[in-house]
Amino acid sequence: MTGTIFDIQRFSVHDGPGIRTTVFMKGCPLRCRWCHNPEGLSKALQPQFFEDKCIGCGLCGKRKQLSNSQKCPAEALKICGRVVDEDEVIDEILRDKIFYSDNGGVTFSGGECLLQADFVVSVLSKVKGLGLHTAVDTCGYVPWEELEKTLPYCDLYLYDVKCFTSNLHKEYTGVDNLLIIDNLKRLADTQKDIWIRIPVIPGFNDYASEMTQIAELVSSISSVKQVTLMPYHTLGASKYKTLGLEYPFDTDKRISEEEFASLKRIFCDRNISVV
Ligand code: SF4
Ligand code: SF4
Repeated sequence: MTGTIFDIQRFSVHDGPGIRTTVFMKGCPLRCRWCHNPEGLSKALQPQFFEDKCIGCGLCGKRKQLSNSQKCPAEALKICGRVVDEDEVIDEILRDKIFYSDNGGVTFSGGECLLQADFVVSVLSKVKGLGLHTAVDTCGYVPWEELEKTLPYCDLYLYDVKCFTSNLHKEYTGVDNLLIIDNLKRLADTQKDIWIRIPVIPGFNDYASEMTQIAELVSSISSVKQVTLMPYHTLGASKYKTLGLEYPFDTDKRISEEEFASLKRIFCDRNISVV
């Protein structure tokens, strides 16, 4: 079986417990305005051009295209994404097995990794059989059946909750959140461990009424082990240009440390573990 990925990150410490290898799958059903992984939006392989590396050799012509046998001498032009088979991915995951210790392992992320659920399940089932800890990072906007397939092979779900108000969710991500909340509740019923991840986005969800509703939802789910509030950043903005896309989120508003701390307190006040 093959899957389409855009990166495999080794020694990751932010995508679950311990030291992990994170596999980034290509393709996402959402279009979050602040997305910092534009390489993960399209499922297709895409040309990517890094203007600052180009030495102007002219090999790729005006249209910045290379034939299969050509290679950009400056690595300024490349294909974003690659099709991999499961053995290739498993080999890469197992390279760092000695570093995973008891709680580290592998996380599938993206994009939305469950758009390629069969591939993810196939790899997860094999690495779980080898004793690794497994995690899936999902936006939750997939048919329940796709999430359900992963249950026997996944130890932990990193589940994004972006906002509670559905029409606001639609305005900023392109889809409403009814399926996402429904899947979260179904997942909660399975008693699988869940870490909730909330990007804190200026002007979108950085105020008390929105966070309070999210906190109320989260506090009703006993299998949520922790919540992470992730500060907005623009580190991915420059990647849009390399893919011929425009960065869709333009704001000068920043969230102060005090504001961020007060949003965290909304969760702490409900005895939710926040990191
Ligand atoms: S082949 Fe690479 S270095 Fe040469 S012009 Fe094209 S992008 Fe620039
Ligand atoms: S769900 Fe994640 S990968 Fe998909 S658009 Fe939103 S931020 Fe980007």
